[in-house]
Amino acid sequence: MSSTQNKLLAIIGHPIGHSLSPLMHNTALHALGLDYDYRPIDIEPSQLKEAIQELSTQGCMGFNVTIPHKQTIIQLLQDVDEEARTIGAVNTVIIKNGKLHGYNTDVDGVAKSLERYRSSVDGKKVVLLGAGGAARAVLFCLLNQFKPAGISLAMRSVERGKELAGSFGQKHSITVLSLADPSLHQLVTEATFVINATPVGMTPNVSASPLPKTTAFHRGQIVFDLIYTPIQTTLLKIAAAKGAITIGGLEMFLHQGAKTFELFTGKQMPLDVVRKVVEQELTH
Ligand code: NAP
Repeated sequence: MSSTQNKLLAIIGHPIGHSLSPLMHNTALHALGLDYDYRPIDIEPSQLKEAIQELSTQGCMGFNVTIPHKQTIIQLLQDVDEEARTIGAVNTVIIKNGKLHGYNTDVDGVAKSLERYRSSVDGKKVVLLGAGGAARAVLFCLLNQFKPAGISLAMRSVERGKELAGSFGQKHSITVLSLADPSLHQLVTEATFVINATPVGMTPNVSASPLPKTTAFHRGQIVFDLIYTPIQTTLLKIAAAKGAITIGGLEMFLHQGAKTFELFTGKQMPLDVVRKVVEQELTH
């Protein structure tokens, strides 16, 4: 890379075309007049090691990591932040003096999305759907920054759910069950907070929902869907129609991005400018 070119930042994943991270980061970089260029780079799993070595030799300062590399990249990094190691997933890598340092900023995104609803989490029952990388970040956040009375984890592979619950230690009260378990209906009815961390309902399968239309959502409940494409998923529509408060994944997306931006540049992301541009892109 010649010295006249902008400093390189990136997001790596496979596929990567759908990602709104380039729009978010380039909007923020442009607004602050910073001479970085943030690019999407499609990397197949078999090419991961060579590709990140190449990014490092090209002078890349840092990159985001998305599906399917969030877990597998850990073994290729020289240093992994304690939170990211406990969660078992990295979504941000900073390259300094040729060394790769891994972080998980999804936790910051989850924490910022939940903070204003703290009184509906602490001392209350929570249902979390999914057992992938995002579910791991949500569970870590719930266990370390909130005090729920109990957490029910529902997913399609109970084995994977047990592994997830077990990786956070035995001292926490976590019930693991299948999404198909008939008792899930009652647990959802009793919960104050219901969180979807599966991709069910994401574009292009927007009519799908991880919970059926007949779910007895009610007033006093909060339903948080991590998905942000579409902004309002079918799950959120079902919950809102029955009086529950709903939260989409956009705030989490913006806040994990803001934390990453700070790691990349040392500066605060201009959130209002970025929110407006990303919202426009999602609703046009
Ligand atoms: P992931 O690691 O691939 O995990 C996905 C989880 O959902 C797994 O537990 C998987 O089950 C389950 N799942 C997949 N398809 C399913 C289906 N048809 N029915 C039931 N369960 C299904 O993905 P992730 O990184 O955790 O992401 C999950 C969702 O969160 C995605 O929609 C992503 O866009 C969203 N997300 C949003 C943000 C944000 O900033 N708002 C950040 C991160 C992720 P198995 O274990 O059986 O495969």
